[in-house]
Amino acid sequence: MLPFKLVYHERYDLNLGPHVFPSQKFRLIHEMLLREGIATQDDFLRPNPASDEDILRVHTPEWVRKLKTGTLTTSDVMKLEVPYSPELVEAVWLAVGGTILAAQAAIRDGFGSNLGGGFHHAYAGHGEGFCAIHDVAVAIRKLQADGVIKKAIVVDTDVHHGNGTAAIFRNDSTVFTLSIHQKNNYPAHKPASSLDLNMNDRADDDEYLGALIPAVQQALGEFRPEILFYVGGADPYCEDQLGGLSLTKKGLKQRDRHVFEAARRRGIPVATTLAGGYARRVEDTVRIHVNTILAAREVALAFPSASAARS
Ligand SMILES: [Zn+2]
Repeated sequence: MLPFKLVYHERYDLNLGPHVFPSQKFRLIHEMLLREGIATQDDFLRPNPASDEDILRVHTPEWVRKLKTGTLTTSDVMKLEVPYSPELVEAVWLAVGGTILAAQAAIRDGFGSNLGGGFHHAYAGHGEGFCAIHDVAVAIRKLQADGVIKKAIVVDTDVHHGNGTAAIFRNDSTVFTLSIHQKNNYPAHKPASSLDLNMNDRADDDEYLGALIPAVQQALGEFRPEILFYVGGADPYCEDQLGGLSLTKKGLKQRDRHVFEAARRRGIPVATTLAGGYARRVEDTVRIHVNTILAAREVALAFPSASAARS
């Protein structure tokens, strides 16, 4: 039994068929967690789809209408880079509901993990790079609207820059956006985050962790957020097909652990989401995402109570 909740729905599968995005990974992560005894059925929460009211705090009515009525233009679909289907929309609305639920669980338990989401390339008015709706942004706006938090930080460790996050929260002093990514990679246009850590091609574990960890500690110390949203990409992995960094599985787990520990030591709840992962062997992507849950468990057990850590 885990000391925090996991959020999952069997319809997270984006229904992409043969595609570089391994949409079966959501199911495979769920299966691995159960098979290896890391989690039991009681550890899981099942999300409801996000409400349109929640989504419209971030996205334009025009973009939401296009998605719900299947009226995307050819250009919209080209930017999104995944084929449109009603199942895709259902999966996205569920994943957004999942990130909201994981955030609410994190506020209560110190950690909460959505085994989906991390759609950091979605903008308010269009989708990009496999991301239609920005689940983390919607969850932040919901917590703010409900009066649960004022300030949030997004720590985005996907190998690709968090362009949607940066654009949505540009000029918003309540949300600190931190992205560590490969400089020479998608997206071509990288709007400025609060802090961008641009990594050179083939940066390894030491180089990456040496840049990330002090930056996270400083941001948490100075900005003092009330929740940390973790966009935990598996694609900085050395064998990723869409990434050009050289992190090992061990280095990626250390990355997760260091970020979680920095938050936990300050009593800041952590909500995790998955984001990308395109390893040649899908088992590697699944393992890296499962390791994020293990890292959260290690930190939760090492620091039993977020409120105790605060005092
Ligand atoms: Zn990515």
